Amino acid sequence: MKIFRNLQLFGLLVIIYSLTQCTTAEVHESFSNELEEITDDFSPKITKVLENLGFNPIETKKDKVVFPDGTTNDFYTYQDMSYSDEAIEKIMNQEDTPTFEKQFRTFNTVGGNRNYTIAFFDFNQPFQRQAAGDAVFLFNNTLRTTIRLNIVFANGSNFASTPKDIAVFYLGNINTIAVADLPSNGLPGKNIRLNFRSNLIGTRARLRNTIMHEVGHTFGLRHTDFGLTGQAPDQFGRVPIPGTDTSGFDISSIMTSGQNSNPFGGYTDNDIRAIRFLYGFR
Ligand SMILES: [Zn+2]
Repeated sequence: MKIFRNLQLFGLLVIIYSLTQCTTAEVHESFSNELEEITDDFSPKITKVLENLGFNPIETKKDKVVFPDGTTNDFYTYQDMSYSDEAIEKIMNQEDTPTFEKQFRTFNTVGGNRNYTIAFFDFNQPFQRQAAGDAVFLFNNTLRTTIRLNIVFANGSNFASTPKDIAVFYLGNINTIAVADLPSNGLPGKNIRLNFRSNLIGTRARLRNTIMHEVGHTFGLRHTDFGLTGQAPDQFGRVPIPGTDTSGFDISSIMTSGQNSNPFGGYTDNDIRAIRFLYGFR
């Protein structure tokens, strides 16, 4: 059974590999090339919701995500950020009303004064565990907000039964280095998908930085270097956080989109100020 699964996986990998001509490095440096391929056409209602959430509908695609235990779900993905089908549905039915008042963030934020469990699935290599541990340690001890992360490592086959607020797992069929869900319903984004083909997250430091960036998305942070894409500050629902860089070119932030050659190294003062503004300092 295991061999059969592996064969299936191998077949899938071959298909994925043959479908993707460009390297992840190229994709990382240019969302726009990748976005030309996107042809999803959404209903006017969905389009409106996406716009309200700060997703450019033209550059958003709907994709099916296979979780580590084989179950699937649909997601709307824009750049490296996503909302599940359910989240969009709830927002559409106004059960989850975006709060339009709270570096850049989404309309949705997360409840503070809480512990959230972040579960890393199939992080079996030492550098992966170290990177996960580093990212969680820095979140808890550098940011020092009222939110604390508890770290859990688990086997992907136990995905459903593992208690978790945020799940981190590897996939092959994503075009960026990683994708994170944004918060909805007052809870952090539920999933961080990592691209297991990407050699840009093949070291402890690079994987750590990527996890830090994606965790930032799960707590509602948006990209700080959107100016590099030629977008105006008020386009697509970014809400500026007082006291942080609003230029659109803050590329040293952990929340830079990676569309520059200056990869982030850790939390900057702007990042710390932003997250403490949202979730308080302890
Ligand atoms: Zn991002």
